[in-house]
Amino acid sequence: MWLAGGVDPDDRMNAEERSQLIRRSGRMLRPYRRQVIGTLLLVVLWTACTLAGPAIVRYGIDVGLGERTKHGDSGALNLAVVLYIAAAVISYFVYRLQIVAIARIGENFLRDLRTRVFDHLLRMSMTFFDTQKAGVLVSRMTSDIDSMGELVQQGLAMFVTNGLLLALSFIVLFTLSWQLTLVCLISLPLVTVASIKFQRDSNKAYLAVRDHIGQTLSTLQEGISGVRIIQAFARERTQTDEFIHKNRALYDAHMESVRISAWYLPIIDFAGIGTTAAVIGIGGWLVHKGSVSTGTVIAFVLYLANLFEPVQQLSQLLNIVQSAAASLHKLFGLIDTPIDLGEIPGAVDLPERGDLVVSGVTFAYAGTPPGSPAVLNNVNLTIAAGERIVLVGPTGAGKSTLAKLCARLYDPIEGTISFGDVDLKRATMGSLRQRLVVVPQEGYLFDGSVADNIRIAKPSASEADITKSLQKLGILDRFESLPDGLNTAVRERGSRLSAGERQLVSLARAALADPAVLVLDEATSSLDPGTERIVEHALEQLMAGRTVIAIAHRLTTAERADRIGVVADGRLAELGTHQELLKLGGRYTALFASWSGNTLT
Ligand code: ADP
Repeated sequence: MWLAGGVDPDDRMNAEERSQLIRRSGRMLRPYRRQVIGTLLLVVLWTACTLAGPAIVRYGIDVGLGERTKHGDSGALNLAVVLYIAAAVISYFVYRLQIVAIARIGENFLRDLRTRVFDHLLRMSMTFFDTQKAGVLVSRMTSDIDSMGELVQQGLAMFVTNGLLLALSFIVLFTLSWQLTLVCLISLPLVTVASIKFQRDSNKAYLAVRDHIGQTLSTLQEGISGVRIIQAFARERTQTDEFIHKNRALYDAHMESVRISAWYLPIIDFAGIGTTAAVIGIGGWLVHKGSVSTGTVIAFVLYLANLFEPVQQLSQLLNIVQSAAASLHKLFGLIDTPIDLGEIPGAVDLPERGDLVVSGVTFAYAGTPPGSPAVLNNVNLTIAAGERIVLVGPTGAGKSTLAKLCARLYDPIEGTISFGDVDLKRATMGSLRQRLVVVPQEGYLFDGSVADNIRIAKPSASEADITKSLQKLGILDRFESLPDGLNTAVRERGSRLSAGERQLVSLARAALADPAVLVLDEATSSLDPGTERIVEHALEQLMAGRTVIAIAHRLTTAERADRIGVVADGRLAELGTHQELLKLGGRYTALFASWSGNTLT
C-alpha cells in the first residue's frame, strides 16, 4: 500500500537547497536554451502589449480628447484606437504562442527527468531495491512527476507571465505618477498579511488534500485487487465503510481548502476595490491641483487590475509550485543516489574460463537490524571450471543468497569471490554479466515477441543466432510450432506462454548469452511430464561444458551434480558427492530420505 504523494518531511527545503534546485534545473534546461530565450521574448512582448493598453487609453484621453491639451485631436484619438486594437491583436496571438512555448519547455524538462530517473533506477543494485519500498519508487515516478506535470500544464505559463506582469506594472506605475503609486500601496499591508496567511494555510490544506487523495486511492486499489478475498469472506460492508470514511475525509480536506480560498479571494478583491476608490479620490484631487492628468488616473485604475489579479493567481499557484519543487528535490535526490555496485576505476575483464572461488564470505542484507545473525558466515567453496555444484538445504538457509553473491548481484561484507583469480569487485561490469549468468526460477517476460525476449540476453544476436541456440537446446520445434513461430507476441507477464515455455525462454536467453558460469535457481513449479522432459533435456544441453551453481529442489538434479553443498544456518555444513554425503549420514542423508519419501508418495 502506498500513498500517492502525502505530507512528507522531505517536502521542506532550506534556502541553500532551493537555490541549488534552481541552478540544477537551469542546467537541465541548457539543451533548450534557444527555446527558453524565444519564450522569454514572447512573454516580454505579451507583457508589453498588456501594459500598453492603459497607456494608450491615457494618451487617447489626455491628447485625443484634449483633457490635458484643452483641445481635442481626432488624429491622436484615432491613433489611440488603432494602437489599442493592434496591441490587443498582437497580445492575442502572442498569448497563444507563449502558452504553447512555456508548456513545451516544461514537458521537455519532464521528459528528460523521467528518462534520467528511470535510467538511474535500472542501474541501481539489488541492495537498493531491497531497502527501498517499491511503492515509494513507483510514487517517485508517478505522483512526484505528476505534481510537476500539474505545474507545467496548469500553472507554469501563468506563473511566469503573472510574475513579470506584476513586477513591470509597478515600474510603469511609478514612472506615470509616484504619488498615485504610493496610493496604490495603501492596501499593501493588508494584501501582504492576507497573502502570507493564505499561503501558510492553503499549503497545509493542499498537502492534506494530496494525502487524502492517496489514502482514498489506496483503499480503492486494495478493494479492487483484493475483491476475491473481500467477497469470499463477505467483507464488502467493512471495506465500503472504510472507503466512506476516507472519502469523507477527502471531502473535508477539499472543503477546508475551499474555505481558505473563500476568505482570501474576496479580501484581495476588496483591497482592489478599496485601492481603486482611493486612486479615483486622491487622483481626482491631484487632477484638480493639476499634478496629474485625467488620463493618468484612468490608466492607474486600469493598471490596478494588473496588480491584484496576478497577486491572487500567484498566491493560488504557489502551492503547486512548492509541491513541484519538493517533488523535483526528491527526484534529484534519487538521481544522486550513488550506484553502489558499479565498476571501479581500472576494472579488468574476467578471463574466459577459470575456477570460481568463494573465500571467507560473510554476508548480511542491508537494512536488517544490527545484531541479527549474518545470512552467510565465513563460507569457503572452490568450484572448478566446468564443475556442477548443487546447493541444497532448508528454506531460508541462504542458498539463493550464496548463488546471488557468486554472480555479484551483491558484494560480500567480508571475504572475496573471484573468477579465474580476478575478484568480482575488480571486474568490468560487461565481462561480469557476460561470464556469469543467473537463470531465475521464472524468467520475466517483457512485452514483445518470443525472439525479442530471447534477444534480451544479447541485443546484437541475429535471427540465425537465436535459432541456433534454440536448436542446441533442442527446443526450436517447440517455439516454431507457436502461431507466429518466434514472432509470436508474449503479452506482458507472458500470459500467452505456458509455464514450461516461459522456462524454456529463460534457458534460451542463457544459451544465447553463452556464459562460462550458470547460476540456476531451479523452478519449483511442476510441469506436465512431457514438458518436464523437454525442459530437463534443454537444461542438460545448456549446462554442458559450463560451471554450474544450481539451487536444487529435485532429487534428480542433486544426484546428477558433481558435488553437493548443504547450506544450513548460514554455513556450508556439508560438501561432497552424492555418495560421499550419503555415507556421511548427516543432513544430506536426512534430506535425501525425505525427498525419496516424497517421490514415492
Ligand atoms: P534460501 O535460498 O536458502 O531459501 P535465501 O538465501 O533466500 O534462502 O534467504 C536467506 C535469508 O536471507 C532468509 O532469512 C531470508 O529471509 C533473508 N533474505 C533473503 N533475501 C533477502 C533480501 N532481499 N533482503 C533481506 N533479507 C533477505
